[in-house]
Amino acid sequence: MSYQRPKGHRDLFGKELKRVEAMNAAARGFFGQHGYEEIKTPTFEFAALFDRSIGETTDIVEHEIYKFEVNKKLYALKPEGTASVLRAFIENKLSLPARFLYIWNMYRRERPQKGRYREFLQIGIELLGESKPFYDAEIIDQGKRYLELIGAKDYYIELNSIGCPQCRKAYQEKLKTYLEQQLTHLCADCRRRLERNFLRIFDCKKEGCQAIYDKAPKITDNLCGECSEHYKQVKCYLAIFGIEYTENKKLVRGLDYYTRTVFEFKHGELGAQDTIIAGGRYDLLMRELGGPDTPCTGWAMGPERLLLTMPDEVPKLQPRQVYFVVAMGEKYLQKIISIRDGIQAKGHICMLGNPDDPIKQQIKRANKAAAAYTIIYGEDEEKEGVYAVKDMKTGEQKKIPAEKFNSQIPQL
Ligand code: ATP
Ligand code: MG
Repeated sequence: MSYQRPKGHRDLFGKELKRVEAMNAAARGFFGQHGYEEIKTPTFEFAALFDRSIGETTDIVEHEIYKFEVNKKLYALKPEGTASVLRAFIENKLSLPARFLYIWNMYRRERPQKGRYREFLQIGIELLGESKPFYDAEIIDQGKRYLELIGAKDYYIELNSIGCPQCRKAYQEKLKTYLEQQLTHLCADCRRRLERNFLRIFDCKKEGCQAIYDKAPKITDNLCGECSEHYKQVKCYLAIFGIEYTENKKLVRGLDYYTRTVFEFKHGELGAQDTIIAGGRYDLLMRELGGPDTPCTGWAMGPERLLLTMPDEVPKLQPRQVYFVVAMGEKYLQKIISIRDGIQAKGHICMLGNPDDPIKQQIKRANKAAAAYTIIYGEDEEKEGVYAVKDMKTGEQKKIPAEKFNSQIPQL
């Protein structure tokens, strides 16, 4: 008698396992530096959690979930992380704002291919309780910097906004009018999506449908005032972070819960399975799952897919002291980003305040993040050529000449 592993699953050992573990260690180090706390939840949840959150007409819920019944209760192996993180957040009454990192195996009954397995790893981050566009840009920046850290190359970023239910209502009529003439050319899945979740038709992988959607009106051109302003600001912040991206108006993501910003990091060498990071904002999901009204944003990465593009091992990081950098206005954001980079380059943990929050609120966040030191930079500091450094334990504040700052970081 001989036994085989189930189709679409892998045995990991030797060099490949070391590579995966190095990726995980780098993620723990790097996202730890940015104030993310690791979270673990059960391998399976009640199936209803995913029907409710991912959406009943998505590929995942329609075809891909492993479900099993025990004592008349229906369970599902986790196909993704966000719903489970939110469920745990609500159930354990955790406090906001919160940053979570998860490194979990996920399960989907997909057709196995290169870079597409039935049991696969996801490294994901979720930022709960932040609505401002700065944070959409920040998590994209963090994804990019993590990829830089582990040495990934040749990826590109696509960005879009899919608005809120309010903009979608008006837009749906426009799209319907256009598609009514094309209905017979659409695949059965798309015709069904049109009835139940029209925006997701754009996620269809069939060329025939895509040709029709190329010419369709797009949600991004039909955003309400607030969503449009939010999207504009996300793009401004991305420019300040120095992130290049292309706008893809057909990018809608394969899960139901997204609102406003959506994005994907893609890799040119991966063929059909080319997405390595995917995510966006999901402001309505927490309430949908019975929690408090909470804006959230996050993404998930497929490290195994990414490793296919990288021949060598990846580095590890050891986080140390916690720092927090406060910007007194957007004007100084670029400067505080470079201060943060200098601190993190020394292996320390460093977080940024939101530049348009009042200083008091930013200091409060620094306290919440258990920062040992807060660095403040604004008009006065710029004039004097210094950084104001506040020792959070003693409350003492001193000025350090900007040019001496980097060399003094360990002794602060
Ligand atoms: P795809 O379009 O490739 O099916 P998706 O939209 O289903 O991706 P998400 O659910 O957003 O992807 O998952 C985020 C990331 O997890 C993907 O970008 C990919 O890197 C990885 N991933 C998703 N499904 C698989 C799989 N079956 N095997 C390996 N990695 C996967
Ligand atoms: Mg998929």
